[in-house]
Amino acid sequence: MLHKRCGPGTEAYKRAAEQIGDDSRSVGECRYIVWVAVHGLGNRIVSLVSTFLYALLTERVLLVDQRTDMKYLFCEPFPGTSWLLPVDFPLMGQLDSSRCYGTMLKTDDHDKMFFCERDQNLIRQVPWLVSNSNQYFVPSLWLIPSFQTELIKLFPRKDTVFHHLGRYLLHPTNQVWGLITRFYNAYLSRADETLGVQVRVFSNPAGYLEHVMNQILSCTQREKLLPELTTLESQVTNKSTSPKLKAVLVTSLYPEYSEKLRTMYWESPSSTGDMVQVYQPSQEMFQQTDEKLHDQKALAEMYLLTLTDNLVTSGLSTFGYVAQSLGGLKAWILYRPTNHTTPDPPCVKSVSMEPCFHRPPPINACQAKTVNSTRFVRRCEEWTMGLKQV
Ligand code: GDP
Repeated sequence: MLHKRCGPGTEAYKRAAEQIGDDSRSVGECRYIVWVAVHGLGNRIVSLVSTFLYALLTERVLLVDQRTDMKYLFCEPFPGTSWLLPVDFPLMGQLDSSRCYGTMLKTDDHDKMFFCERDQNLIRQVPWLVSNSNQYFVPSLWLIPSFQTELIKLFPRKDTVFHHLGRYLLHPTNQVWGLITRFYNAYLSRADETLGVQVRVFSNPAGYLEHVMNQILSCTQREKLLPELTTLESQVTNKSTSPKLKAVLVTSLYPEYSEKLRTMYWESPSSTGDMVQVYQPSQEMFQQTDEKLHDQKALAEMYLLTLTDNLVTSGLSTFGYVAQSLGGLKAWILYRPTNHTTPDPPCVKSVSMEPCFHRPPPINACQAKTVNSTRFVRRCEEWTMGLKQV
């Protein structure tokens, strides 16, 4: 309703856009937040969902910078209006972070003052805000006391915030939906059980790394997500009476992880007699953000991962967070390897489906008290500096 009243094409929008830069300090009837895309698609989605929640809490109209390929990825979420920021928006050339809140205050980390109650009282009076973030900053919104009452009403279960907001807001376009359904119907729908494995390699150089492959095997076998391999002789005695068809969906920029897995389960029998099929939709080799088809494939793969029964994701990857949260899943998170060795233990089960906020305000900041007393906001499993809801 707010969007219909204040969105692009309305008199209210026209007035608000015209008033930018005039010194009258009057806030019209509508206030806005413009979301700008930063980094890869997973980062974009977690920050967009966070910005949407902030817009709901502060009665702002959420508008999306359409110079990236968002319009090829997602349908309009609000009926009878548009969430795309018109291209003739007066500040179009200035939507970068040069005028960010932190810079206005001082530098860098002062951005985090955004999460202070006192600062919110000031920010409330600003008619146009630009959200220039690559983070899932929702946990720190919960720690602003004046937002808590509304948040608790909106989300009786605190671990489902992204899940509900994401499913409300993010509807893949027909092209992306085609990529999802064709792959699902051809490769996953008939399996008795499906497992998603999302492999993101942050080290430099990236690519295929033996210790990451070992980590995936160690995690999936230890957690009994995949059967162990055996020799031909022992297989005869151990075979289960009704072997299952297990489909494994691997997503990665690189082809080798799924190739190795497929070869392993072809060359040796599984100890249970289960049949293991391994599929990987794309092998893009490197990140090509803002290439239309590349991003559409990335979104399709995130969605396909949401449809699996069990999920293994790479620690700290927002790509994996989106898959887990939209899917309503608790993934096994692969710890980030250090020193080119396989971490021990290799993975940890996520305590909730929520994404992790990697860079929350420091513990001695204005949220120090609330962070200690709010039981449903905790340190992330794989990144103790981060915060997540449980
Ligand atoms: P993060 O860097 O892991 O937090 O995730 P982002 O999604 O923000 O950035 C990684 C980007 O690299 C993705 O958006 C894709 O463009 C690309 N990418 C990484 N992994 C995959 C993958 O498994 N499949 C596809 N299709 N693209 C990927």
